[in-house]
Amino acid sequence: MNIIFLGPPGAGKGTQAQRICSALSIPQISTGDILRRAMKEGTETGLKAKKFIDAGQLVPDEVIIDIVKERLAQDDCGKGYILDGFPRTVPQAEALDTFAKIDCVIELSVDDQVLVNRLSGRRVCLKCGATYHVSMLGEKTTCDVCGEELIQREDDKAETVLNRLKVYHTQTAPLIGYYERKGLLRKVDGDQEVDAICGAILKTLGVRA
Ligand code: ADP
Ligand code: ADP
Ligand code: ZN
Repeated sequence: MNIIFLGPPGAGKGTQAQRICSALSIPQISTGDILRRAMKEGTETGLKAKKFIDAGQLVPDEVIIDIVKERLAQDDCGKGYILDGFPRTVPQAEALDTFAKIDCVIELSVDDQVLVNRLSGRRVCLKCGATYHVSMLGEKTTCDVCGEELIQREDDKAETVLNRLKVYHTQTAPLIGYYERKGLLRKVDGDQEVDAICGAILKTLGVRA
């Protein structure tokens, strides 16, 4: 199954994609993770993306479309995948339609006030992409999965967060209508416990938990 996770920053796309991907044994394709890795490695793409990401803006469509097109052509995507963070604009969605067949779009909805709290407390592992919240970390500063030191993303700092929410509402939210018109959109309440959301997504996908 080829699935898109759509929702504002902090909605839980990464958290849920990781779980659903392991339940379905399909790859999680997170464009944010791909870009952060490229920035860390200092590749040409990483350097190009950095100024947009740090400002809370989207990187240009042509940059991200090429990355996703190349990634979806790899063998491990043959049995399906979850796109987490792509598409984020209507031109990206239109481009995707030319090289992929999407079966389902899960929209995770969460109010802006809740999102601000989630994003300001988010800590991530740049090595494996795992996501945490300070409220569950206590004294711990390393990743449960791979042991790497956790960091706060530059773009999760307060001033950038509000900008990212604005970008979501103006540039990404139109995709809700785009996929609704195609009959692919399924809404899931993202303001519940992580396990409850995971169950709701699996049910929506017709998979038994
Ligand atoms: P996204 O990928 O949509 O930006 P994340 O999965 O990274 O969102 O989650 C953002 C933050 O909110 C993280 O700190 C994560 O631990 C936390 N979080 C995710 N899902 C929930 C939830 N259902 N309830 C409370 N906090 C959550
Ligand atoms: P979040 O988890 O908060 O939703 P991501 O990790 O998906 O954020 O993305 C972080 C940043 O990477 C975005 O603010 C944007 O600058 C860039 N980015 C990621 N995916 C895309 C995309 N599909 N189009 C343009 N920019 C993107
Ligand atoms: Zn890790």
